[in-house]
Amino acid sequence: MDGDSADPTMPAVNPWIGCRHPIDVVLDDIAEAFVPLGFAVHDLPLLEHSVDNFDRLGFPPEHPNQTRLSFRVGPDAVFRSHTTSGCFGIMRAAAPEPVRALLIGSCFRNEAPSPASNVQFTQLDGVAVQPGLGMPDLCGLLEVLVDAVIAHGHPWRLRQVRYPFTAPGFAVDVRCPRCTNGCQFCRGRGWAEIGAGGLLTDDVIAAGGYRPDEVRAVSFGCSVERLIGLRHGLDDIRELLLNDPRLLEQFGGRHHRYP
Ligand SMILES: [Zn+2]
Repeated sequence: MDGDSADPTMPAVNPWIGCRHPIDVVLDDIAEAFVPLGFAVHDLPLLEHSVDNFDRLGFPPEHPNQTRLSFRVGPDAVFRSHTTSGCFGIMRAAAPEPVRALLIGSCFRNEAPSPASNVQFTQLDGVAVQPGLGMPDLCGLLEVLVDAVIAHGHPWRLRQVRYPFTAPGFAVDVRCPRCTNGCQFCRGRGWAEIGAGGLLTDDVIAAGGYRPDEVRAVSFGCSVERLIGLRHGLDDIRELLLNDPRLLEQFGGRHHRYP
């Protein structure tokens, strides 16, 4: 460094002014809606016990999630493949008292990446356990979710889908916010899936340390990157994890320019 010409009091040239990553923005929007309803936010670790990740949620040993779609790091540990598995730790810590929790975590699946899916993604799950919960409560919570991530009053619907840990279980669709008559993003259907929800089975409730004859449990979850794709019209959600500042520039990050 040339000591004669350097002036350490001068500001740096065009320093990068960062901004919050869109994944954090969506997570905060959801937390802001659910924390007033009594939900506590939990960040989950990357690793999960394979029994909680698979077996206690009803995935048999021969299920593809167990055999080839997940990254195991040992006989009993797996890189979390969904945040639903985090419900057991939360439930066991709270039982027999009621609990409401939002579970947030990075998840991993050993699948070929595509513009609509990635090997790594962020999931958010909500779980509530207390006496007397039912479908009206699940629908009320999903209404709050759609309000928070899309828009107040935005049309949404349930499609019954079979999951091993819910009875009944549903996929949650919203009217595609990017088209009126079908587009590439919604594959021409006019509806886009944003997540899933349902009533947890008695087996799951019991594995969480509760008596199924005393409480009911509702659960819902969504892929955060997919929500961002819907909100902002991203054509390739893999761009969200590229660590490329050009993406953040589109969400408010910028180079500060001195006059
Ligand atoms: Zn569409």
